Amino acid sequence: MSTVGGRLPWANWAGTASCRAAERLCPRDEAELATLVARAADQGRRVKVPGSGHSWSAIAAPEDRWISLERLPATVQVDGDIVRVAGQVPLHRLCAALEAQGRMLPNLGTITQQAVAGATATGTHGTGAGLPVLSAGVVGMRMVDGRGQVVELDEGHPDLQDARVHLGALGIVTELRLRTIAHGRLEERLRSMPFSQALEQWEELAATHRHLRLWWLPRAGVVQVYTADLTDAPDTGPNALAVRLDRWGVQQPVFALLLALARLAPALVPAIHRFAQATSFPDRRRVEDARKVLTMPVPPRHQEVELSVDRAQTRQALQAWWALLERAPYTPDFIQELRLVAADDAALSPATGRDSLYLGAYCTNPATAARYFPQVLALGRELGARPHWGKQFDHGADELAALYPRWADFQALRRRHDPAGVFRNGFLDRVLGG
Ligand SMILES: Cc1cc2nc3c(=O)[nH]c(=O)nc-3n(C[C@H](O)[C@H](O)[C@H](O)COP(=O)(O)OP(=O)(O)OC[C@H]3O[C@@H](n4cnc5c(N)ncnc54)[C@H](O)[C@@H]3O)c2cc1C
Repeated sequence: MSTVGGRLPWANWAGTASCRAAERLCPRDEAELATLVARAADQGRRVKVPGSGHSWSAIAAPEDRWISLERLPATVQVDGDIVRVAGQVPLHRLCAALEAQGRMLPNLGTITQQAVAGATATGTHGTGAGLPVLSAGVVGMRMVDGRGQVVELDEGHPDLQDARVHLGALGIVTELRLRTIAHGRLEERLRSMPFSQALEQWEELAATHRHLRLWWLPRAGVVQVYTADLTDAPDTGPNALAVRLDRWGVQQPVFALLLALARLAPALVPAIHRFAQATSFPDRRRVEDARKVLTMPVPPRHQEVELSVDRAQTRQALQAWWALLERAPYTPDFIQELRLVAADDAALSPATGRDSLYLGAYCTNPATAARYFPQVLALGRELGARPHWGKQFDHGADELAALYPRWADFQALRRRHDPAGVFRNGFLDRVLGG
């Protein structure tokens, strides 16, 4: 095992969480990893395995011993409709390996930089009324628990259901077994329309399309409605200048430049949004591989709050959010996003027990975020919304416990798998209790 000592700086991708780890340990195999966890438990120390650091919250902060799985074998093994994948493998590598075998994951979020165990830990999701969080496809898990024991959670194991969304609090996941589907192409349509029209058509669009997403540049006058469905139609390629520019990496620097300009002169944000709406989002249709349609290049650094609301409250939530931004004396400088996620049954999935609408409030300007996010969180509190574990929120354990009907089941699972609290960090102490 290699060890790096000293107070080692760690920070997440967004720069919203950072800490100094006491040391960084790179076990060579699962046995060494298990020994290391057992020793930490005996010594009353804590360990943390960050994934790719793409959570905005401090969930992955390694405040004591930082364990890296970089020296463990990064295996991906496709077996029929199940894939066995090492926890540290990035989603994009998993997707590429699946595509080579004519398979894919049923859904994806907007990027694939995350480690597969990191993405499933927080309930990462894509969009689609019938499509649950990525973790719902976990049919098996192998992890080193807080006593340093290797635990297999097979399909049918009573702990698997709730371990799927684990917040890094149960163990170090060395392998996941995930359900896959036949690889396919998606036909995507983008239409811009007034917000009132999108609201009118929302339920029908949700019922008729596999994927539905709404993007919204505040004060641009219209919203962008994206639908996508599996198809046998021929591949059209990017089929729009904006998508081509994205692929060539041209859009990102231009976008970053506009955002820098907007930070210097926030009054320009509405005009910039109208310009972006007119130039980057003309109505279009394209057919491409599902991954190309569902994901996009990593966007400029920004901040995110994302709240999962019961879909039964769609109209109320959208009207309240729209009204909040109409009267706000500021304009968030980034897109706002709405996505749909089907109910699942993991105790701490933000979509547990209810089909959900996810409100994504995004912003790059820290001064605007400091005014906007507390208002969005307050709106979420009125709606009984559950925050995405990987995004920004200020809830504590008592408030979260009231939002999750099977909170106690997860706490019992945590006590069983991590009796000494070896996987705790400041974030987990706040959201799950010490
Ligand atoms: C640009 C961008 C776009 C995003 N898009 C989406 C999106 O479309 N949908 C969505 O839902 N989210 C999205 N996210 C959020 C992101 O998917 C989640 O925060 C995800 O958890 C990050 O994965 P990670 O590998 O970076 O994990 P980290 O943030 O590093 O860690 C998350 C948790 O996983 C734990 N963990 C990681 N590896 C292991 C392991 N092997 N064993 C045990 N625990 C482990 C960590 O300890 C921590 O508790 C996005 C984030 C960014 C920055």
